Amino acid sequence: MKALVYQGPGRKAWVDKPQPEIVKPTDAIVRITRTTICGTDLHILKGDVPTVEAGRTLGHEGVGVIEAVGSAVTSFRPGDRVLISCISACGRCANCKQQLYAHCSDGGWILGHLIDGTQAEYVRIPHADNSLHHIPAGADEEALVMLSDILPTGLEIGVLNGQVKPGDTVLIVGAGPVGMAALLTAQFYSPARLIMVDMDENRLAAARRLGATHTLNAAQGAVIEQIMALSGGRGVDVAIEAVGVPATFDICQEVVAPGGHIANVGVHGVPVSLHIEKLWLRNITLTTGLVNTSTTPMLLQVVQAGRVAPGSLITHHFPLQQILEAYRVFANAAEENAMKVILVAD
Ligand code: NAD
Ligand code: ZN
Repeated sequence: MKALVYQGPGRKAWVDKPQPEIVKPTDAIVRITRTTICGTDLHILKGDVPTVEAGRTLGHEGVGVIEAVGSAVTSFRPGDRVLISCISACGRCANCKQQLYAHCSDGGWILGHLIDGTQAEYVRIPHADNSLHHIPAGADEEALVMLSDILPTGLEIGVLNGQVKPGDTVLIVGAGPVGMAALLTAQFYSPARLIMVDMDENRLAAARRLGATHTLNAAQGAVIEQIMALSGGRGVDVAIEAVGVPATFDICQEVVAPGGHIANVGVHGVPVSLHIEKLWLRNITLTTGLVNTSTTPMLLQVVQAGRVAPGSLITHHFPLQQILEAYRVFANAAEENAMKVILVAD
């Protein structure tokens, strides 16, 4: 079969590889029908994630059809259409029992990281019973690819950690796929104002279409003053950081209102300054973390009910064989006006 493999910092290739086989009785083999590229894949390609070895198939998002299951898999059969979670979870260890699936003692974020991932014709999914979800009949499968990672991330690490409530003023910094997922899912809770900050005018325009009440271009300066003015001088109830650089974390610390929450989602490659000397005086709660995908079953229901349309984040389609071109477009998101890029393998 064909797969997109990491070959060391800055290098990737579309190569022939043996088709994966069942290794443990709890495994399933899935034939990929749709997959996508995540910002995390770009981090890996740069060499920012040293635990990824050369030869690894990338990708941790996708939908497909079950090809084979191990003898201990009880919930899935060959032919079933499934959504793949970016997190593999045994469902039984102490962390899984608290729904901390990202910290499963025999799993977590391993797909496209420590084991071969979804940017291939077939993928092996460990702990299939707890790491796959049935796709409801009639569902828009392509839109469900957003539920492998980005929609649960925006919801769990942004909106739920930030405790967004009706009437809140919510700031989201970063209008990439993850910030947009926070924008879509924050609207479940009826905030009064949703302020999106980015430096890319195309993405800010997309944010307005997807429900942002105000957008601010950080490249034009005075963002902190504008956020304070929009919130009547009080600051924001919830500040969601979805970029991962010190400057945007600083904005969140400056504008959070007394009693407010900073929900950090961005992965920070360099240390940030934590201004505890300011935050304590304002009774601020700071949260951060890795997505658990514990909300995926709920999100499947909300999408099926038509209450959120995650397919609105998709901007491009390519046949799976053209994945190198898809990477080029995704890596030049601003010039290409790209958000989520779908790879099609029927
Ligand atoms: P992305 O790179 O597509 O989007 C980031 C956005 O931030 C871009 O639109 C960019 O224009 C904007 N930006 C960059 N610098 C800025 C600045 N100084 N001020 C304002 N805007 C700025 O990334 P993404 O895929 O949306 O992911 C966002 C972050 O979430 C990344 O750090 C990613 O690694 C992280 N992430 C975390 C988890 C988790 O489990 N916590 C899961 C997935 C992704
Ligand atoms: Zn576990």
